[in-house]
Amino acid sequence: MSALAILGGKPAIPKSLDPYPSIGAAEQRAVFEVMQAGCLSGFYGSWREGFLGGPKVQELEAAWSERFSVKHAVSVNSNTSGLYAAIGAAGIGPGDEVIVPCTTMSATAMAPLIYGGIPVFADIDKGTFCIDLGSVQANLTDKTRAIIAVNLFGQAAPLKELRALCDARGIVLIEDNAQAPLATENGQYCGTIGHISVFSLNYHKHIHTGEGGICCTNDDHLAERLRMIRNHAEAVVGPAGVKDLCNMIGFNFRMTELSAAIGSVQLADADAHIGRREYLGGRLTEGISGLEGLTPPYVRPGCRHVYYLWVVRLDQARLGVSRSTFVEALEAEGVPCFPAYVAPIYQLPLFRDRIAIGREGYPFSLTDRIYNRGLCPVAEDLYEREIVAFETCAFDVDDDDIDRLVDAFRKVHAGCTTLAEWERKKAS
Ligand SMILES: *Cc1c(COP(=O)(O)O)cnc(C)c1O
Repeated sequence: MSALAILGGKPAIPKSLDPYPSIGAAEQRAVFEVMQAGCLSGFYGSWREGFLGGPKVQELEAAWSERFSVKHAVSVNSNTSGLYAAIGAAGIGPGDEVIVPCTTMSATAMAPLIYGGIPVFADIDKGTFCIDLGSVQANLTDKTRAIIAVNLFGQAAPLKELRALCDARGIVLIEDNAQAPLATENGQYCGTIGHISVFSLNYHKHIHTGEGGICCTNDDHLAERLRMIRNHAEAVVGPAGVKDLCNMIGFNFRMTELSAAIGSVQLADADAHIGRREYLGGRLTEGISGLEGLTPPYVRPGCRHVYYLWVVRLDQARLGVSRSTFVEALEAEGVPCFPAYVAPIYQLPLFRDRIAIGREGYPFSLTDRIYNRGLCPVAEDLYEREIVAFETCAFDVDDDDIDRLVDAFRKVHAGCTTLAEWERKKAS
């Protein structure tokens, strides 16, 4: 094998990977049609025709609920706003505790704060990186009102068990399904198992509308509340005859007709878009399996993993080199990857300094929770030492590219002894 690229050898991937072309002629036509029709949003923020959005928005929602066999699909302008709507619909209020995984995109944990709720951080599972059931149980209190499960990196959290746990306690399970459209747990789609789930349609997700999101639920009451919160609830609940006024302060989370038109095209093509990621993830896993010190993503039996990110665990002790050196060497070979995902959310200054809303720290003033290091040891360890992520969604790769990606991993792995020396010299 040739010399490592980081030491001046030829890179395993000579030319940088092409970005994934997520928008095609069909999306362009769909946007053009809306432009020609001239109505860019059909929404009105008052209780009249148009309260539920324009024709493209309603078309996307109907197609979404059919595709996922879920009673209600409520479009929003991002997954973040969908989570705010979900927490609002669930009736979370000041001092209510919401258990969230500590490793996730920050919006998961911000959503409870918006209503004065307290995010309580559960640790994650070392194999799946999703919320750990034991840690959820350990964090349950008589103030727990909801759990947000994140189907992280494209694979289901233990949804069935979490749903049973929530039903038994009369609390709400919300799925943050931003990263796992068409993933399944025992044949059931992620995003249909919780009481409410939220999908992301931002530009970097599997399918997208530029920015956007979809909330799903099978519950009529929750669906009504989601639709109210999406569109200025406070101004319309009277005329609409809404009885349950809890959290009926609204927002403008409305999707445009342009985004919705793109969304319908993307949804129709979702199998192709997502199938490619699944194939790529599977091939990469196959390619590096058996390499001492590298653990490819674990796929739970009965689950379909759709690889928003393909995430490897790296054992620095066994490899004899640090993660940063290993990643640097991979990057030199032409593998676009990064160490870790995000730091545990409780390490954000917001939590560390217990200041969220107003100067008194509200809602932290309602709790004596502290967010110190050591709160979620598994997540901290994965973040600080083990995780290396490859962004499967971002690149247009064919079989030859995949072979080269695998070659790059194997080459760096085989060069670890050399890398260790290089690392030692650099340090001295
Ligand atoms: C992307 C993402 C979000 C936020 O989605 P937006 O549509 O950008 O608001 C939330 N949670 C997770 C897990 C995500 O990956």
